[in-house]
Parts: sequence; C-alpha cells; structure tokens
Amino acid sequence: MQQYGIDIWGDENFIIHHDKVCINYKSRPSLYEIVQQIRSEGHRGPLLLRFPHLIEKQIREIYTHFARASKELSYHGAFRAVFPLKVNQYPHFVKALLEAGAPWHYGLEAGSKAELLIAMAYADTKAPMTVNGFKDKEMITMGFLAAKLGHDITLTIEGINELEAIIQVAKEEKGPLPSIGLRVRLHSLGVGLWAKSGGINSKFGLSSTELITALKLLKEHDLLERFTMIHFHIGSQISDIGPLKKALREVGNLYAELIKIGATHLQTINLGGGLAVEYSQNSDMHQRNYSLREYANDIVFMLQTIAKDKKVKEPNIMIEAGRFIAASHAVLVAPVFELFSEEYHHSSLSLKTSNPPLIDELNELYQHINLTNALEYLHDAIDHLNSLLTLFDLGYIDLIDRSNAEVLVHLIIKKATYLLKEKNLKEIMHIQEGIQEKYLINFSIFQSLPDFWGLGQNFPIMPLSKLDEKPTRSASLWDITCDSDGEIDFSLKNPLFLHSLDVDNEDYFLGFFLVGAYQEILGMRHNLFAHPTEVTVTIDEEGYRLSNMVESQTIIDILDDLDYDPNDITRRIKKLIEQADITESKETLFDRIAFYMEQNGYLKTIHQESK
Ligand code: PLP
Repeated sequence: MQQYGIDIWGDENFIIHHDKVCINYKSRPSLYEIVQQIRSEGHRGPLLLRFPHLIEKQIREIYTHFARASKELSYHGAFRAVFPLKVNQYPHFVKALLEAGAPWHYGLEAGSKAELLIAMAYADTKAPMTVNGFKDKEMITMGFLAAKLGHDITLTIEGINELEAIIQVAKEEKGPLPSIGLRVRLHSLGVGLWAKSGGINSKFGLSSTELITALKLLKEHDLLERFTMIHFHIGSQISDIGPLKKALREVGNLYAELIKIGATHLQTINLGGGLAVEYSQNSDMHQRNYSLREYANDIVFMLQTIAKDKKVKEPNIMIEAGRFIAASHAVLVAPVFELFSEEYHHSSLSLKTSNPPLIDELNELYQHINLTNALEYLHDAIDHLNSLLTLFDLGYIDLIDRSNAEVLVHLIIKKATYLLKEKNLKEIMHIQEGIQEKYLINFSIFQSLPDFWGLGQNFPIMPLSKLDEKPTRSASLWDITCDSDGEIDFSLKNPLFLHSLDVDNEDYFLGFFLVGAYQEILGMRHNLFAHPTEVTVTIDEEGYRLSNMVESQTIIDILDDLDYDPNDITRRIKKLIEQADITESKETLFDRIAFYMEQNGYLKTIHQESK
C-alpha cells in the first residue's frame, strides 16, 4: 500500500483506513465521505476544509512544551505567544484560533492597520498583542487607542523614525500607554526560502548604534519604563536549528547589555516566527531537522545560560509562530476533472497486411512480453521506436506506421510497468517520467498553492481513496488556469504516483495538505478563479458537523470586486439580446446567461451539469 509519506508529514493527524484517508480524531471520518456529503448539497469545484481541533492541538503543544522545558530547567521567565495574522486572516480561522487559545491567553500579532483592527476587535484583553512592520503616525495612534481599549499591546519599533513618531504621539495621548519593543538587527542569518528577514542587511530592525540612540531617546522622553521587549525574526520555516541557536546567543547578549546600559524595564525577548513545518513526503527530503521539544529546550536553555553568565534576570520568552500553528488545520480537496494521457488501446492499432519489419517486431514483443523478458523487451521497444521515428523523418514509413509504432510501444510500456510493478526499478521510474499521465485538477495553483508557484514549496499531495490499490501512473498535475505555470510536474526526486481511473464513472479527489498557512491570503485570482468553497469540520465521538460554509464567489461577484458594474453587464447583455436575430425566447436566453453569472467559475463535468 502506498502511504504518500503520511508518517513523515502527517503528525498523526491523518491515517489510512481500508482504502481511504481518515482524520485521526474521535470518530475518525474519512475525508472522502466529508467531501461527498458537501458535494451532495450541490457544491462543486475545489473545497477548503478547516479542522479546528488541529488548531487547538498546535497551540496546546507549544504551550505544553515551553511549560515542560521551563519546569525541567527551573526557568523563571514567563512564556507568552501571539499568532501573526499575516499567516491567515480569514475569520473562520481566526475565530477558531482565538477560541482554542483562550485558556492560555494566546494573543495576536498585527503587521498592518487592517490586521491591527482585527486584533483590536477580536483579541482577548488578557492576552499580549504585538504590532510589527513599518508604521506611520496613524498606525502608531491606533496602537495607543488599542491600549485605551484595555489591550496589552507592544508596538515594535523598526527604525528610529518610528520611535520619534511614538514619542510625539505619547505627548498627545493620555494613558494608558502601549509598551514599546525594539526590533534588533542581528548579524545571524536564517536559512531556507524565507531567510531574508535576518542578517545585518535585513529590511528590518535597529543596529547596535541605533539601539543606543533609541535608549537615550526613551530616557530623555520619560518612556524608559514603557520599553519592555526586544524582538527579532530570522525568517520563516527555519529548517535547521543551528542558525536559530546562533541568533539566540546574539539576542541574549543584546538583552543583557541593554539592561546594563539602563533598559530598566526590559523583560521580554520576542523570537518572532520561523518554527518549521515538515512538508516532505519523502524521507530523503526532510524540511526541518528538529522537533518542538528540541526547539523549546534550546530556547529556554540558551537564554537561561546567558542570563546566568551576564547576571541579569531570566527574560520572559515570547514567540510569534504562525506557520506551525496554522498549516495543518486546512486541507484543500480538488477533484480530478479529466485525464490527458497518452493512453492507447489495442483498438487504436491499424496494422496493415504488410508492415515495415520493425513494426512487425514490435507487435511480436507486445504479444510475447512476460515477467522474465519484460525489461529486455522494453529496451528493444524503445530502441525500435527511435529507429521508426528516424525512418519517418526520412520518408520511409507513413503516418499510419508511425501511429502503430506509438501505440505498440505504449502498450509494451504499460504491460512491462504492470509486470515489474513490485520491483521498484529505477529504470521503470525513468520511463514513467517520460510518459506521465496528465491529471487535470479542478483548482487553480495560483489561487490555492501560491507558494508552489512562487517559491517551489512542495505540499503533501495524496488521493483520498483507492489507497488499497497500488498507484502505477506517474502523475503530473495540471490546474484549470490557462497558464503553463499552473502545473505540478512529475519529478523523480519527489515522485507522485496516482491511480488509473475512469473519470466519467468514478470520483477521484486529491488532497493537498498543510495549506493553512499563507496560501489563502497570498492566493491570487489569476484567470478570475476565486477562493474555493470553505467549510469548517468539527469532529466528535459520534461523527462530524459541517459549519461556516463560505461558497466560492460567483462570477458576477468577482467582476463586481474588480469594479465592473453588474447592472452595466446586465444592461449590455440585454441590449445584445434585443438586437439578436434568434428564434428562441429572448427571456429564456437572458435567464440562461444570468444562471451562469451566478455560478462560481470552477468547472463542472457534463455529468454534473445535467444533475
Ligand atoms: N513574526 C514576524 C515578524 C514575521 O515577519 C513572520 C513571518 O514572516 C512571523 C512572525 C511568522 O513566521 P512563521 O509563519 O514562519 O512562524
């Protein structure tokens, strides 16, 4: 049985039961049955399923591991955490996150005015709130207003100009005032695709000289007691713990030195995000080399050691892990819409009474291939095909011969692959790479997996059913956009094998896992494909419940968002109908067009359309 690496990336959240992938929680429903239930209510196209229990699990794991590490090392600093809204701002995610985080007073981080407004309206006032990123005076004022609402908010300063703006606003506003954090620019670099946030040339943070200037300014303006936190972030998806440890050493020393030169109220080190997710389906391609246990242990141990050496109080620890919290909660499910295979049947052969000798030989190979000779016959067949193609170029064989050669060689490859399927031969894999099955998937990579398109980030992919059958087709996936970049190629390094299927008579869905972080908000409406229909799935001992359904936008809604006037579109269509020289009822024609305007833009099979 093919496991699709579920034991590597699945974190025991999913299991294979019989031929289906199931959610490993309480009543353990299969993804396939959930999807079929939603589709039975008439919803088509891709679906985004949210699982709130997986959000709760990640939050609980983080708090539990830091509590354990602190207890084991008798660490005196507190542990606090916030969720960076940039990772997923969608309301049905954020509300579930805040509900799950309430027992721990899990907070929010905002990086823009809009995110700050979400945080002001929804966050728990007992939880911490941090504001990062570039800020103007207006955004800083919003932060002051959040403090008046009772939020425990820290504005992190990215540059001296921002501090000057804070000093100005502090003069204008009465208390309570927000706390102030300083983002430090470390020379330690991150690793991986998202490493640019660290290092001496990074876009964010204050150099040592600027830190000293900032401290002087805070003292001068009587704001020293508001300065409580230093912050850094060396990049998202830190795959190697080494660079993080190096950064911790640097920031621990900066913390101690700042206290020594007068930062009397500095008490917290905010480590930003970066806690990595294992996306790999393949044990040779791990995407992180540490566990949450190791991450928590290293942070607590390192900061404790530095505090002891430098004789300062152990700092409170804050983290802003986003990807780690959000990635696992969402699964994108997309139906296979069509196959574009070089799939030839025996019936396509049109052998003549007299064929070129090489065609006759191919036919012989096809008739007599068996387990013992399969590899040898396969080699011969490929050789013959090359010779026959050259003969065609030179004008010695005709189009019918060429077609017969194609069909016979594909039939031989298919038979050989079947005969040799248990042997996992590298060579067969190579051959399969050349004759992939193209699966047309009813989704948009640009909308639903933008990090695959932009950064080559792989997400685990597996079919939701047929898992008791060995998948033999080397698959490349095409999305339904008219863009050649909308494709996930078959690769020998990270091969995806799927099943043979009859798309007209069976449903076959692919699950794209760990898509809950960044993908939704970075997704773009290339070709005007909108966010998929989303549903929250709550699982209990008896079964599961579907809620918070947000249907994929209708075509007319998407155009409205682009500032087309729906009334103008209707007017124009009606005018054309008026002028049209047709025999059918003009009213019916309009109703038929209006029907399409109210559908979402994803595809329907002929069989679905007639339902
Ligand atoms: N904090 C800051 C300042 C960030 O810039 C980011 C992301 O880039 C995060 C936290 C979240 O990082 P991650 O999702 O890798 O945990």
